[in-house]
Amino acid sequence: MLTQESIIDLRSDTFTKPTPAMLEALGNLNLEKLGDDVFGEDKYVNELEESTATLFGFEAGLFCPSGTMTNQIALHLHTGFGTEVICDENAHVYIYEGGGIAANSGASVRTISGNRGKFTAKQAEVLINKEDVHFPKTRVISVENTTNRGGGAVWDLEELEAISTLCKTHGLAFHMDGARIWNALIAKKHEASFYGKHVDSLSVCLSKGLGAPVGSLLLGSKDFIFNARRVRKRWGGGMRQAGILALAGKFAIDHQWARMAIDHQRAKICAEHLKQLPGIQQVLEPETNILIAEFENDNLLQAFLSHCEKQKIKLGSIGMNRIRMVFHLSISETDFEELLIRVKAFSRS
Ligand SMILES: *Cc1c(COP(=O)(O)O)cnc(C)c1O
Repeated sequence: MLTQESIIDLRSDTFTKPTPAMLEALGNLNLEKLGDDVFGEDKYVNELEESTATLFGFEAGLFCPSGTMTNQIALHLHTGFGTEVICDENAHVYIYEGGGIAANSGASVRTISGNRGKFTAKQAEVLINKEDVHFPKTRVISVENTTNRGGGAVWDLEELEAISTLCKTHGLAFHMDGARIWNALIAKKHEASFYGKHVDSLSVCLSKGLGAPVGSLLLGSKDFIFNARRVRKRWGGGMRQAGILALAGKFAIDHQWARMAIDHQRAKICAEHLKQLPGIQQVLEPETNILIAEFENDNLLQAFLSHCEKQKIKLGSIGMNRIRMVFHLSISETDFEELLIRVKAFSRS
């Protein structure tokens, strides 16, 4: 039973824990299907790779320990020493992956100052380097859907098609960091197979809002995934009886995906409450499960953060006087009602 004292953790949708139903499914795991995945002998992993690739319209998939690894493997295969990646200045691949593009692939990054983490084909086009000894060769355009630091914004399919065409025209690869593509699909009801038609590689996370404990998949052509498998091994990401994780991932997709609509609804309701608080400069209109609010200044931000600490609400500040709240399946209805009460109390404290 939840009490006034319970902690409400909105730092990230990575804090989700396995649900009782998921644990039950794991308890019924068929040992016959487990095998050594480095040898391609784990049937749960093989099934998950195949079914996810098919869902998104790709030929093949690769199960990896993290979204950072799937992104970095993809960018590694698309680039090479002295080449360049184009992405938004707030992109996870650039900001949050430990300098991986430089360290793993020796490539530079050209950033775009986009709108909530999204940019236009026109903005990208002017950054594609001409063939000239002065310039690094542009090799890949990378987009993030939904955008993390952009507050869960979803890309328009028309813009993605335009970028896809741009990439084809210039012989570039098109990568999508779809850690939260699941949220985008629920929010906009887009066809998942759109992505297989328009991007060369797609990374999807099972361990965010879907609620699986570990794992991401990289999707692409057969050849691409064949090469990706070697890079995964080289980087130490080959796992053995990974079917336990793949089964959790499969369960998450089958049973915990549709409920994301609840998280999106809650982000919207909470946004309305935040707008009423003193010192709020702006609230980025939530499109999915991420809510970003900006305070007028650092003092007000700090006051709100300490209020939340006292009220046992965990959330993150992401710079620029902004806080981030992420809604997910480990927040119960009672938690959510309690959250609204605790947030509202800021005006009186
Ligand atoms: C979480 C996340 C990833 C991958 O993170 P891991 O913790 O490495 O699984 C990639 N891109 C975005 C946008 C993310 O939010």
